[in-house]
This record gives sequence, structure tokens and C-alpha cells, in this order.
Amino acid sequence: MQPEATQAEVAHMVERIQKLGLKPHVIVGAERTVIAAVGDERRTHKENLESGPGVSEVLPILAPYKMASRELRKEPTVIRAGSLVVGGATVGVIAGPCSVESEEQILQTARAVKAAGATALRGGAFKPRTSPYSFQGLKEQGLELLAAARQATGLAVVTEVVATEDVPLVAKYADVLQIGARNMQNYRLLEAVGATRNAVLLKRGPSATIEELLLAAEYILNAGNPNVMLCERGIRTFESHTRFTLPLATVVYLHAKTHLPVVVDPSHGTGHSYLVPQMAVASVAAGADGLILEVHPDPENALSDGYQSLDLEQFAATMAQCRKVAAALGKEM
Ligand code: PEP
Ligand code: MN
Repeated sequence: MQPEATQAEVAHMVERIQKLGLKPHVIVGAERTVIAAVGDERRTHKENLESGPGVSEVLPILAPYKMASRELRKEPTVIRAGSLVVGGATVGVIAGPCSVESEEQILQTARAVKAAGATALRGGAFKPRTSPYSFQGLKEQGLELLAAARQATGLAVVTEVVATEDVPLVAKYADVLQIGARNMQNYRLLEAVGATRNAVLLKRGPSATIEELLLAAEYILNAGNPNVMLCERGIRTFESHTRFTLPLATVVYLHAKTHLPVVVDPSHGTGHSYLVPQMAVASVAAGADGLILEVHPDPENALSDGYQSLDLEQFAATMAQCRKVAAALGKEM
């Protein structure tokens, strides 16, 4: 729309787009409002729409992902979920154990990561484990413990939902719904979280391309939920010195292609706690909008992913290093 287009003109064009059998999404930007018309492009009637009141121009979006595209929205999207802010000039820090194990474990971790500067608490209650014999999470009891930790610290809760039927339950407790790497292409699950009001942290599948990641985000956006954060958590390669290979160029590339914020997970991305601090620093240097870090008060005895978890002191030291880089880049952390 033209910068001076009125609300009535926007509403009028929304109606016209609907009448063409297309799905309108209104995106209000700092300078102008954009109306995305999603659907079969043969229905767009470019000339017809272009002569509408308040319309500036009608442009096709060339990328296969539409709502996620930078072509649609030039300004970066900032996501707020309780205490967590991700994007723009703020680097969000999501820290906590791989799995919620006990009241003491999650409360102690939540207090410590908050004191060190984390802005959200992570912790899995429903765990997607490679082996069915591994610890599967405390399920609803774990969600209750996360809510208690939020109550005690004020930290927003980020936790994974692994199945479509669990979405209402997890959404009741979580501020941010995490879609795990193994579920990135579970399209029914993406639509289900897209229908909630919660923010979503969408992790890249270990063998998914960036385009596939953006199309997965598109499912959530198209279902009506604009609050999607993308997460680079490492991909599978021939390399075996790390659990996964963590490509940080993803951050820079995604910033060119999408307005959605990008979070990096150096814990799963490396799989070794000694590699995590410097890769966290490097992620901030590459422009990450957020970090998600596994932190455990006693990593050696963790029920999952202890080998890649920082202890409480290591987390505080990592935060101090990351902050210096963030400050040098003019960002808040
Ligand atoms: C996790 O965050 O603990 C997790 C299971 O991550 P991913 O889905 O990236 O493997
Ligand atoms: Mn984990």
C-alpha cells in the first residue's frame, strides 16, 4: 500500500483479495502496510488490484516461502514472549537443562541462569529420544515444574512439543513452543502450533536445507501465527569430531532471506561442552538474534545430553564473553 493509505483502503483491499479466493495477511511495517495475498497466482489479476484505492504496487514474491520472505517484510521481526525478546538489537538467551528432571534441578538452574543474564528458561518435558529405552521426560509433571520455575524467577518457559495431540497441554504451560529438529517436517504439528497464540522456536532438521526450514516456518505463519524464531542447531555431515556440524553462515544467509529472527544452538550443534562457549561467542559475532544453551547444575549426572551441557559457572563465564561481543556490535544482551 502507499505510505499514506488509510485503514479503510487497507480493509477494502483485504476484502477484494478475499473475493479473488486468496488469503490476505496484513503486515503493518514502520513505513508502509503490505498485504500478502497467498494462493494461486493465476487469481491475482495484477492490473486489476494495482488500480485499487491506496495501492502502491502489486509484486510477485519470487521465493517459494512467501510470509517468511524478506521480499514481503524489510524490517526484522522482533519476538517477545514474557521475559524473552529475540531480534532487532536484542540477543535473547534461552538456557536450561536438556530435560526437566526434578524440582530442585530446574529451580536451581533457573535461578542461576537468570542471575547470569539468561532471558528465558529451557527444559524438555516431552523428549524425542533416539532410543525408546532412554529417559523420555517427566511429561505433564515436567511442565508443572517449568511453570513453578517461571513463577519463582519470572523467566519465560521454552519447551518442546513432540506430538500434535499434546499441543493444547504444552501451550497451556509454555511461553514458547519448541519444534524439535526431528519434527521440522511434521506438517500437521506445524499447523497445530500455528493455530496457537504461543511463540514458536523452529529447529532445523539435521538434514534439511535452509529452503526446507523456511518452508516449514511458512506452515506456521500461514496457519496464522507470526511469532516464529528459526534455530540453527547443526546438520549431519561426514564429520565425526562433533555430534553435528554447526554452520554459522546460516545466520547471515537467513538474515538476507527472511525477516524472522535466528537463534543458534551451540550445544546440539557441537555435542561437546568444551566447544560450546566459543561457538556461542561466534554465534553472537555472526549476528544471531538469540542463543539456546543447555545448562545443568551437575552435567555428569544429567539424564540427557550432559556431555554437551555447561555447568552453572561455565554458563556465567560464557555469558560474560558473549556480552562483550554483543556490546561491540551495539546489541543488548
Ligand atoms: C533439545 O533441544 O533438547 C533437542 C532435542 O534438540 P534438537 O531437536 O535440536 O535435537
Ligand atoms: Mn538436548
